[in-house]
Amino acid sequence: MSVHICIVDYISAGDIEKYSYCPLSWWLSRKEKHTENEGVRKHREISEEAKKMKKSYSKMKDSESMAIYYSIGATLIALVGISFLYSSPILSRIFMILAIVWLLFSLYLLWKFEKYVLLWERKDVERVMVIASGAATIFSIFAVTFVLPPNFALGYVMEVLSLLWLIFATYFLYISLKSEFQYNELKKKLKLPDGEIIYVDDLQQSPILKSEKYKIWGRPDLLIKKGDDYIPVEIKTGRVPRGPLFSHIMQLTAYMVLVEENYKTPPYGLLKYGPVVYKIEYEEDLRNIMLEKVEEMRRALETGEVHRNHHKVGKCIHCSRRNICPERLA
Ligand code: SF4
Repeated sequence: MSVHICIVDYISAGDIEKYSYCPLSWWLSRKEKHTENEGVRKHREISEEAKKMKKSYSKMKDSESMAIYYSIGATLIALVGISFLYSSPILSRIFMILAIVWLLFSLYLLWKFEKYVLLWERKDVERVMVIASGAATIFSIFAVTFVLPPNFALGYVMEVLSLLWLIFATYFLYISLKSEFQYNELKKKLKLPDGEIIYVDDLQQSPILKSEKYKIWGRPDLLIKKGDDYIPVEIKTGRVPRGPLFSHIMQLTAYMVLVEENYKTPPYGLLKYGPVVYKIEYEEDLRNIMLEKVEEMRRALETGEVHRNHHKVGKCIHCSRRNICPERLA
């Protein structure tokens, strides 16, 4: 076969999968029109469910934060209310001491900022400083309000306000629990591993991942954040094989390379066939084999010369391009 095709800069992970199955299958697929078959439809359904899961997770986390903020707010307002109802010089002094301690702590952090930045992330140090100075401000407000003469009207208004804040906190807690339930139900249904879904194969929600270094691109079905690790997941529909297929391992390895360049080196990736999930370690040998395939594909694009590279009849039987293949074995 001798067809001249323009050399493209980037090779997709999906094409790496097809090439690894059979080079000729990849070559023939380049002229195919993409039609929706059962596999594509199922895949889209899974992707939709995963998107719902991602949405439920964000809603759960956002509502959880809101519930915490409103609870803290309710507590503080209630304390201010109490400070308006009672005048207590002792409590005023205690809050004054606490305010000074937190103020000194935030000043100390500011002074030793560089040292702590070396130990923690910059944003973590900044967060602690904001909390420390915020606590100092709140305690100094209490120190003042506890020495003021009692003001019952203001005190009662504050208590009502605190109750209102508590109602908001309860509402957000309810939304968070509801979202958590939905998230867990979908997780059970899709049989997905633990972790936060941060990427779903969907152009509107997640950008294409590119590797400038190796000139490959792709969109993993899912990217799950587990602790500090980013785990790409490739979901395959159809028959469940007895073990992970080489072509799928190559595709997943391409995703691991993309995750490495765009996020962080992943320790492994997951290949999911229905309820069965295989863990594929990210190893240098695997990456080199995948990159060799990419080089072969580039050469094929240059020469326009592509042939079958196997003698497996079974492969041809299961190949979706066998009807148009000039080198098929069955
Ligand atoms: S029918 Fe066989 S030789 Fe042809 S593309 Fe498919 S797997 Fe390759």
